Amino acid sequence: MAAKLLTTQDVSWDQERAAFNILVDQRPAGIAVPQSADEVSDIVRSAAADGKRVAAQSTGHNALPLGSLANTVLLRTAGLGGVEIDADAGRARVGAGVLWGDVLPRASELGLAALHGSAPNVGIAGYTLGGGLSFYTRKHGLACNRVTAIELVSAGGEQIRVDAENEPDLFWAVRGGGGSFGVVTALEFELLRLPEIFAGALLFPAEGATEVLHGWLDWTAGMPEEMTSVGRLMNFPPVPEVPEPVRGESFAMVEVIYCGDPADGAELVAPLRELGNADIDTIQVQPPAGIAELHMDPPTPVPYTSESLLTSELPASAIDSLLEAVGPGSGSQLASVELRHGGGALSRAPQDAGALATLPGSFIAFGIGFVPVPEAMSPSRVWLGAFKAALEPYDAGRYFNFVEESFDITKIFAPEVLERLREVKQRYDPENLFHSNHPVTG
Ligand SMILES: Cc1cc2nc3c(=O)[nH]c(=O)nc-3n(C[C@H](O)[C@H](O)[C@H](O)COP(=O)(O)OP(=O)(O)OC[C@H]3O[C@@H](n4cnc5c(N)ncnc54)[C@H](O)[C@@H]3O)c2cc1C
Repeated sequence: MAAKLLTTQDVSWDQERAAFNILVDQRPAGIAVPQSADEVSDIVRSAAADGKRVAAQSTGHNALPLGSLANTVLLRTAGLGGVEIDADAGRARVGAGVLWGDVLPRASELGLAALHGSAPNVGIAGYTLGGGLSFYTRKHGLACNRVTAIELVSAGGEQIRVDAENEPDLFWAVRGGGGSFGVVTALEFELLRLPEIFAGALLFPAEGATEVLHGWLDWTAGMPEEMTSVGRLMNFPPVPEVPEPVRGESFAMVEVIYCGDPADGAELVAPLRELGNADIDTIQVQPPAGIAELHMDPPTPVPYTSESLLTSELPASAIDSLLEAVGPGSGSQLASVELRHGGGALSRAPQDAGALATLPGSFIAFGIGFVPVPEAMSPSRVWLGAFKAALEPYDAGRYFNFVEESFDITKIFAPEVLERLREVKQRYDPENLFHSNHPVTG
């Protein structure tokens, strides 16, 4: 039976085609909103029979790289729900439409933490398929390498459960190789036994940015892997959605997440507290769910443009270049420019890792500018260009999930990894039915 698709005539069309980035105008050939794996199979088979492609999408947080969807059925996964947590085994099973914010509080109540990212409204499936850079990353690596099984619908419409024993090559590819290989309907992954963490943010007046970012960079050098941190410049837009007291204000920020003994955390963080007079200090012992919104990512769709790159070790002069490009006095109105401290477990391939085993470099840089009106695009691109240029001498590659444009994936994967991904693609989706954000082609 042909799967029912939404068309432009349906009242929910505009809601279902919307991406997280409001600037992305998705115009697919049809939209499917399945409620079960069986319905996903029907949609995949119908689309293939009809000569259409299939793009699985959860929140649309990384929709821009998809490009034209004119011959593609957009398969929105919100109806594929379900969260099961086995506290004894320290594992979760979630449907492909589940967001991190649906899991974190429940896991936290059980003394468990997940390798979630900075935004609770990001989809677990898309995040994990692309790697998954969490606030515990220096100690525990990428989220994709904590996955124990994935259920997906193949290009032939079959429902397959892949794990270390069943379809091991496909299991390898979906752990970091993205959404090119099938429509994921559910995932199982390990959680961390972590009842409490020592975490929060320090917001210093923007004028102190030089001391704060230099001090933070020096401080990262001596940190154990239990400490993951972010050095950041923020210009909060003067809009009602942003709460007082940060609305319209600029800050130099440091975020810290310590997953070792909380008692040691205060001592490790003390030098950061001496970098200046912080306007806001939220660092404290708390349950893991307490950091769901630490990074203050937008809770609802916004119009924006971004840039990212991985960097090698940064000398102090890199901070000077960054500040000159987009720091106070540069005129930059970028909402956020951040350096996440990487390295540690990110640099070591775990045994039996998936396609994204490690992330090169020592820092993960990301910049974002809001574009509330079309005229804001051009200056945002200029500042993002300056941000990237400041760090380009230390360029160590790109991270799959942080690239929000159509991109050459040879910059993400090593040649031997890409070759294996292409072999898996050729074996499981030779007709290139699946349309994904950073595609692997056979
Ligand atoms: C505000 C913000 C904060 C972020 N923070 C982090 C962070 O801390 N760490 C990090 O690693 N990343 C982060 N990201 C990046 C995020 O992980 C990627 O954008 C990711 O692709 C989002 O997944 P999604 O499913 O929500 O998005 P979508 O755009 O819905 O999906 C992205 C891609 O994932 C694939 N996909 C999704 N669902 C399925 C499925 N069921 N089956 C097959 N393929 C599927 C598809 O190829 C799709 O094109 C952030 C992004 C934003 C905008």
